[in-house]
Amino acid sequence: MSRVGLVVVGAGPHALTVTAELIVDGLVDPGELVVLDPTGCWLDQWQRAFDRLGITHLRSPVVHHPHPEVDAILRRRDLRDGDVTAGEVPVPSQRVFLALARELVEALDLDGCVQPARARSLHVGEDGTVHVECDDATSIRADRVVVATNTAVPVTLQGLVPCAVPEPPEVTAGDHVVVIGGGLTAAQLVRRVLVDGAGVTLVTRRPIVERAFDVDPGWMGPKYLADYTRLADPVERLAAVREARDGGSMPAGDAEWIRGLAASGQIELCEGAAATAVERNGDTTIVRLAGGHEVRCDHVVAALGSRFAVENDPLLAPFVASGRVGAIGGYPLLDPALRVPGTSVHVCGRAAMLELGPAAGNLSGARRAARRISAHVAGVDPVAADPGVSNQPIVPSRCGSGVAAGRSWAG
Ligand SMILES: Cc1cc2nc3c(=O)[nH]c(=O)nc-3n(C[C@H](O)[C@H](O)[C@H](O)COP(=O)(O)OP(=O)(O)OC[C@H]3O[C@@H](n4cnc5c(N)ncnc54)[C@H](O)[C@@H]3O)c2cc1C
Repeated sequence: MSRVGLVVVGAGPHALTVTAELIVDGLVDPGELVVLDPTGCWLDQWQRAFDRLGITHLRSPVVHHPHPEVDAILRRRDLRDGDVTAGEVPVPSQRVFLALARELVEALDLDGCVQPARARSLHVGEDGTVHVECDDATSIRADRVVVATNTAVPVTLQGLVPCAVPEPPEVTAGDHVVVIGGGLTAAQLVRRVLVDGAGVTLVTRRPIVERAFDVDPGWMGPKYLADYTRLADPVERLAAVREARDGGSMPAGDAEWIRGLAASGQIELCEGAAATAVERNGDTTIVRLAGGHEVRCDHVVAALGSRFAVENDPLLAPFVASGRVGAIGGYPLLDPALRVPGTSVHVCGRAAMLELGPAAGNLSGARRAARRISAHVAGVDPVAADPGVSNQPIVPSRCGSGVAAGRSWAG
């Protein structure tokens, strides 16, 4: 069994954000690091999701990305037209986001760290080290583990195959497609299907909710997080998180575009008509709606989102079952350093929702997770170093000594 300082499980944007912060802060030696991901490379799932849906721009602000420097995109010299959108809160293109991630991986020499394997289980030894067992029959002993696997239980409907990121159907011109969902992903699916020459009915459970980001930007800084962090009762935190996330939404521009298409007869919009089931009858698909209505079509695709459920997470469920970590509403009760209490297993992404708040699964949550974990390793109070909460410039310095580095909460 090999022994390393750090195992990062997963190679998505959250894993890269945490890994980069730890290395740039001088807290982890890249030679002492193993990243596990069955894809064998960084950001594979992210890239596939964007390609699949034809997404050109992120939804989140340009300051949210895996690079430890908050202005890393804005100060690039190779910015092309459209790489950073105009407007009050600019967002980056996928092109520039991926270029930044690729350069970060190269600069920190992280390509060779990704081992193409899936972590199967984690066992905490009596000496505190963590044994990571992988599906390729190897195992690694690590001083510290970061779990960044983004496991998700897709929300689905009777008659549909559950899928965390929807796959646009293969259509031929003239086909009719029903898109189910009221969030930005549903709008992106409409765009994809129209480009392919199909007719579209968009079915949304409730009137379309307009929101720039999937949670209010107040949740990415002290405006809401300062009070949230003071809530000691996890039940109250869970209620706050649920209220803040509140289902799918789309930016005003996308909602306007959808309504314009409906007004001009280019699509049919069934707003506030919950789909209840999907049935197949020969070549015809029937989407049943509440109130007894139905829509007949050639294809159906749903963007209903997904949820985190710790009891379904292969790496974390055993910690809950053994009582090592409590759970409420499907989320584990981590400590402020995002650890399974009493262990050196840190957890980020949506799994850290009760600690970090409703944007934990977004890129802003990744930045906060990175700073909390890095601060803990450097011996600094993780909450004081959290850029979402404190507004204080107290962060681990680049050499890990805990000296003020002066970055703003936006980072
Ligand atoms: C279409 C889409 C667009 C989005 N756009 C934005 C946006 O603009 N801004 C924003 O803030 N958020 C956005 N999100 C939400 C979120 O930021 C992304 O889902 C992001 O990919 C989450 O990063 P992650 O690293 O947690 O997960 P992922 O990107 O899913 O990476 C997790 C990795 O873990 C690996 N893995 C899983 N289990 C194991 C295991 N047992 N062992 C080893 N490896 C494992 C997987 O193979 C995967 O590579 C978007 C989500 C989607 C689906």
